[in-house]
Order: sequence, then C-alpha cells, then structure tokens
Amino acid sequence: MNIILLGPPGAGKGTQARRLVEERGMVQLSTGDMLRAARTSQTEMGKRVAEVMDSGNLVTDDIVIGLIEEQLSYENSNGYIFDGFPRTLAQADALGELLDKVDKRLNFVIEMRVDDDVLVSRIVGRSTCDGCGEVYHSVTKPQPVTCGLCGSKIFSRRADDNELALKTRLMAYYKDTSPLIGYYYAKGNLRSVNGLQDINLVAEELASVLWG
Ligand code: AMP
Repeated sequence: MNIILLGPPGAGKGTQARRLVEERGMVQLSTGDMLRAARTSQTEMGKRVAEVMDSGNLVTDDIVIGLIEEQLSYENSNGYIFDGFPRTLAQADALGELLDKVDKRLNFVIEMRVDDDVLVSRIVGRSTCDGCGEVYHSVTKPQPVTCGLCGSKIFSRRADDNELALKTRLMAYYKDTSPLIGYYYAKGNLRSVNGLQDINLVAEELASVLWG
C-alpha cells in the first residue's frame, strides 16, 4: 500500500502519517522532515534551504526529488506514505518514474480536506517534541512538561509556523500543489477525507478508505 497524503499546511498529514507508521508499520517519507534535517548542516545548500523554508516558499524540485530517490527501495513491503511530496506537477511525474524503477505503484492519493480558516489556528498553536516528533497544540492537545510518547522535555516551534510564512505556504499550495488533485483524479486514484474532524475520526475514515 503506497499512498500520498495531499493537503494544505495544517491539514493533519504528518499526524495521520505518524499513526500509520505506528499502527501499520508503513514508512513515512516527509520531505519537510528531511529538509529540516538537512538545514541544520552548515553547508551552503543547508543555508539556502533554510532561507527558502522560513519564507514559506517551495525548495527546488531537483532537491526534493533527489531526497525521495535516496529513500525508495525494493525492500519495503509495508508501503510508503508520501507526506508533503509531491508538491508540484514535475514532482508528481518524477514520483511515478521513481516508483516504476523500484517496481512499486501508487495505490491511493488522499486529499485531506480542511477549511482555510482553521489552518491559521492549527499552525500558530503548534509545537513539536524534539525527541520523537509528536505534535502538540495549545488548544486541542496542550504540550505537557514531558512528552507523553518519549519522555523528552524539549519541544520546539517550527520557524515557518507563523502567520506571514503561512500565507506564502498557502499560496504555494494553491498555485503549485492543488493542481495535483486534478492530476490524480484523472489517474483514478484520488480519494478524499474530512480533515476537520477529531484526529481519531480522521484516522478511522482514512483506514476505511485504504482498507475498506
Ligand atoms: P512541510 O513540513 O511539509 O510543511 O514542509 C516545510 C517546508 O519545506 C515547505 O514550506 C517547503 O519550503 C519545503 N518543502 C517540503 N516538501 C517540499 C516539496 N515536496 N517541494 C518543495 N518544497 C518542499
């Protein structure tokens, strides 16, 4: 089962991907996470990536396609969750070719539907555990003193989780990423789930789309 989670920033892609990893043993490939790891390297490339990410713009296709290519292999049998990739039509074409090379196919593309108004509050109240990546939210899931999953006491907020960068990220989503909805609809593997529901209900709806 190989799937793409598609949706604007704050739609819940990362949260649902993490559950599928824990509950189904799938492999999450988040280009956002890979880029956040790359930006801490003190290389010129790392610095350029950091600037682009903090502004909310997209990094170039060749960088993210290269990151995904490094991770795909024949071996993984529980399936991949592509989280935040592809984000452009060029990336979608490249993903098709990369999957062909490792003899895999894309089963479903899940559009996570949410209202734009909720995205700002979801994003602005968000913090992440440095130890395990668990996401907390000031209103819906307040950050504890120690992480409920791994016990870490260190949490951070993403540099691009602010209203200004979010505007740019939303614009990039509508301009470059939302055309993928039509692209995958035409290919026949698009499904949608209501991302406005409680996290557990989204997970249930997602499971019933994927496994019936
Ligand atoms: P995310 O964690 O998915 O919200 O990604 C955070 C930031 O990383 C985005 O705003 C982009 O700057 C960059 N990024 C992540 N994935 C991609 C991608 N597939 N293509 C281009 N830029 C990306």
